[in-house]
This record gives sequence, structure tokens and C-alpha cells, in this order.
Amino acid sequence: MCPAHKSMGHPSQETIMKSARIAIPAPEDEPRFVVLAQSAVLKAEPVGPCRRCSPWEDASCNCHRLKKRCTLFNAAMIPAFYIKATLQPLQIHNDSSASLRRTIKAVQQWARRERPPEQGLLLSGPNGVGKSFLMAALARSLTLDRGISCLFVDFGHLLQRLKATFNGQGLEYEVFESLQQPQVLIIDDVGSHRVSTWSRDVFQTIIAARYNACGTTFVTTNLPITSIGTGSFSHFEKWAGPHCTSRLAEMCFWIPVDGTDRRRPPFSRLRPTLPHKA
Ligand SMILES: [Zn+2]
Repeated sequence: MCPAHKSMGHPSQETIMKSARIAIPAPEDEPRFVVLAQSAVLKAEPVGPCRRCSPWEDASCNCHRLKKRCTLFNAAMIPAFYIKATLQPLQIHNDSSASLRRTIKAVQQWARRERPPEQGLLLSGPNGVGKSFLMAALARSLTLDRGISCLFVDFGHLLQRLKATFNGQGLEYEVFESLQQPQVLIIDDVGSHRVSTWSRDVFQTIIAARYNACGTTFVTTNLPITSIGTGSFSHFEKWAGPHCTSRLAEMCFWIPVDGTDRRRPPFSRLRPTLPHKA
């Protein structure tokens, strides 16, 4: 069974509505939406007729803005596993590491910036500390709360899509082109798959294109970055190469994250607390 489904089961309508309430703690007549897990990714859609403008559908009503933001959210391709990933509310376990707390604060501050900066974040840390969860929560916030286009890409899955084009399933050019469209690109889990020259070339190509287009880019990796600036190459730089690493140093703030693997019990460090049913 897919780990996502194993973890969350098939969410009931009640569970889904709870998730939606987290997203929009709004007055009763504000347009509302639900977040659903569909075909391994998350989808958002408005709920029922608008209480403000239905049945006239006033173009200036917030429900039209909500529809556009749901479209952005759906295009972000956030994995279904992260249906509960939100930046607000986000309760941190008391024994979370100081670096994880700093990272969460940095991501939340980035998402709140009135004008998002061109520099993204590069999060480096061991598996299971919450890097991907935070990036999924960021993608949700940027699309639904801010109306910013975003794409969440698992690097291993991207490599599979590119390999499929070798057998005639789609065009390699179109896959690369799709990574240049969104304002914010999140490349998740770089370095956790089998390291190869080809996978490094793919990563370098993406970073070069984003750099040249001034596209905001976020990266997560389990490859250590901490030897940067000490005169020796880090594991990340050895893999990505000095040219690509130099570009990323300009494109992103680099944040080392440590902590306990939250996938192993107890694993509730980053789980948001859902409101109780009224
Ligand atoms: Zn309306």
C-alpha cells in the first residue's frame, strides 16, 4: 500500500472538511473550499454556491479569486501524503531541534513576505526531519493564501518521468519546460536516489535554467552542505558540482536542519493540531 494511504487511510468527508477549515478560518459568508487527495496529489475545489453572490456570480466577489487560487493549488502537484501540511497552525514538539525551529520560522517568514524575494531556501538534513512537509506546506500557502504559482517536484519522480520519455512517453523538452513556468519551483529530495552522472546533469540543467530566468527555487536534500566555506567540498557540492553549487549559493539561503526522524515513532513533531468538531 502507498505510504500516504497507509498513513492517512481514505480520508472521510469529515476529515476533509476539517482540513478545509484550517485553510480558511473565515467569516460564515466567505467562500470555502475542500482539499482532497486525488490520484496521488492534492486537489482543492470550492464548496457549494457562494453565499455572497450566488446565483448572480459577481465577478468582484472573493469566490472568483478562490477559484483561481484553487487552480494554482491543483497545478502545484503536492503529494497526497501532505494533506495535513499547513504553515498555520503548526505546532512543534517540545523536543524539536533548534535548527528545525529556525527552519520553520524561516519558511513561515518567507511565506508572509509582502513581496516574495527571488532567493529561495536550500534545506539540508537527514531523512524524516520534516523538510518535505515544510515545502508542501509552503506550496499550499503560496497558492491558496497568496495566489503565487508553484510546483512541487520530487526529484526521484522527475527522473522517472524523464526516463519514460526515452520510451516515447512524452517529450523530454516538455518536462524541462514545465519546470520553468511556475514562479516558485520546489525540488524535493535531491540526492536520496541512486547517484549517477545523468541525474546530476538533470539537476544542473534545471538549476541553470531557473538561474537564467531568475526563477525562485527551493531545494531539499539529505546530502550534507556544512563543509561549504571551510575549504573542502561538501557531499552536496561533490555531487552537484562547483558551478551548480555556486549558482545555488546565489539563488538560495542555505539552512542545515537536524533532528529526529519523525517517520519513526513517535512521529508527531510536525503534525498540525486539527480543531475539534463543533
Ligand atoms: Zn461569490
